[in-house]
Amino acid sequence: MEIDYAKVGLKVGLEIHQQLNTHTKLFCGCPPALFKEEPEITFLRRLRPTQSELGQVDPAAFFEFQKGIKIQYEANRDTSCLVEMDEEPPHPLNREAVEVVLTAALMMNMQPIDEVHVMRKTVIDGSNTTGFQRTCIIASDGWIKVGEKTIPMQAASLEEDAARKTGTLDNGKTICYRIDRLGIPLIEVATAPVIYSPTEAQEVALAIGRILRDTGKAMRGLGTIRQDLNVSLPNGALIEIKGVQELELISKVVEYEFQRQLGLIQVKAELQKRGVKPEALKEKFVDVSEVFRQTQCKVIRKALDKGQKVAAVKLPKFSGILKRELMPGFRVGTELSDRAKFWGRVGGIFHTDEMPAYGVTAEELGALREAVAAGKEDAVVFVADTSENVHDALKAVVERAQEAVEGVPAETRTAKDDGTTRYMRPRPGAARMYPETDIPPTLITAELVEKIRGNLPEPAEKKQARLMKQYGLNEKLAKQLLDSEYGVLFEAITKETGVAATTVAVFLTETLKSLRRDGVAVENVTDDQIMDVFRGVGSGTLTKEAVADVFSWLSEHEDKDLQDAVDALGLKMLSRAELAELVDRMIAENRQSVDQLRKKAFGMLMGIVMKEVRGKADPAVVTALLKERLS
Ligand SMILES: [Zn+2]
Repeated sequence: MEIDYAKVGLKVGLEIHQQLNTHTKLFCGCPPALFKEEPEITFLRRLRPTQSELGQVDPAAFFEFQKGIKIQYEANRDTSCLVEMDEEPPHPLNREAVEVVLTAALMMNMQPIDEVHVMRKTVIDGSNTTGFQRTCIIASDGWIKVGEKTIPMQAASLEEDAARKTGTLDNGKTICYRIDRLGIPLIEVATAPVIYSPTEAQEVALAIGRILRDTGKAMRGLGTIRQDLNVSLPNGALIEIKGVQELELISKVVEYEFQRQLGLIQVKAELQKRGVKPEALKEKFVDVSEVFRQTQCKVIRKALDKGQKVAAVKLPKFSGILKRELMPGFRVGTELSDRAKFWGRVGGIFHTDEMPAYGVTAEELGALREAVAAGKEDAVVFVADTSENVHDALKAVVERAQEAVEGVPAETRTAKDDGTTRYMRPRPGAARMYPETDIPPTLITAELVEKIRGNLPEPAEKKQARLMKQYGLNEKLAKQLLDSEYGVLFEAITKETGVAATTVAVFLTETLKSLRRDGVAVENVTDDQIMDVFRGVGSGTLTKEAVADVFSWLSEHEDKDLQDAVDALGLKMLSRAELAELVDRMIAENRQSVDQLRKKAFGMLMGIVMKEVRGKADPAVVTALLKERLS
């Protein structure tokens, strides 16, 4: 059955962050690049809650601080300097990045502002060495057309990217961040919450992604674009979903969140029908270690052997609720479990809706129910871990169960690769912003705006028509190029190398997509390298059949070039003399068959010769030679 999302009242707003491939970072001269080697420098900082201007601690900041965490930063000298380490004030705002955002903003029909003021936004998870993120609005109040619909665009901002998390130390008490990513320019654009279906959300995101790429300055590869979604339902809640990395995943994420909220609304109705009141859910935790003294359940056995304990809590009238599915593979029990993991640092929870299982027997369950005085209509949740952790975990479980009676809790969630989402943290309060006093305002003059307006990239529909006309591409290829990250490169290659446009287009769209699917790290190969490969094809030193192999090789061998790839893969083209010699030899070796087949011998010989020289000779040259020798 088709779901009428608009009728149910689904509303989605998008916030898209795209890294910009400018020459330097936003506030220093470092290149916007990441490093893979071991860090040259590490330094330790402790998280402190910052007092905002109003003297209040930001709730999100306080929440992070509560966890009592230390941060270890990792750096190398090529990708960061004293600015990223917060040992030197930021340099003036990168003008190139401002112009890229202005370009995108004008393509989205926004109004540029006159004076750019850099602001500080409190971020205290350690991902910024300063404790805040610098951000500035460049333009606002625009719109884009997606199909027949006009989508209002709220604003375009320029922000510094944060450091990236690389792992944790000391049982999670120290978080490691790499500061190479810190300071890379990000354009952030936000739509109004006027998107009414999962498909529409994806179409709008694709349209925005296309405009950002048309600036020619969008970084590419996984992690360079990140989408945040605000999804809300009437009677549900406003849920912020962070970190969708692939545009293709957006419709699924929205669909699953819609399902999850509907499911939770139904749970609320069911609990109310059963007469459950939040205050009936009590933080009364019972030590049930004795019940499991002889247990065969591995997780519990291991915990008890370590001297830890098992504690349980009764959820009155919750029987059957926890096994209700909200998203594929995700049940109400998972909601409780996510909270327990987060606040109680436990590996997970057990509950009676999924029992008997995991080696827990019916006898143990009977004793467990008895220990917490639970009847048939009640559910019991139990956890095995240290005293402190089981207490925090069960407390979080009870809180989440109380929220289930009220409906959908507003929270920030994080998107998984399969499109489902998981609890991330409570919703932060409204972002606290205050002026960055180290950076003077940047003026956006009318002259600058007019200069940029005069040189805007052509809009998508026009471009598609031009690609088809100018390069003889079919509609499908032209569309694929528009959606690809390689549209600009396509035209450069075709113009410079003389290689057939269709060959280049197929490689940059379909071939790269399938290479990526096969696990080739496509983003490791630079535009210059790709250009070089096609120069090889254009000049006849490389066959077009060998392009994919050369590309894959280059993706695994950094700092190597086309010549290295050709040598390593044994792709050196055969000279005409070498080829003639080989053809003669093949004819001699197959003399008998050639005599028998006569004119039909060509096909057979072509097969034999091409098997020998694939990637080392142009099939057209082989054909000519064979025909000449056979006649
Ligand atoms: Zn720097």
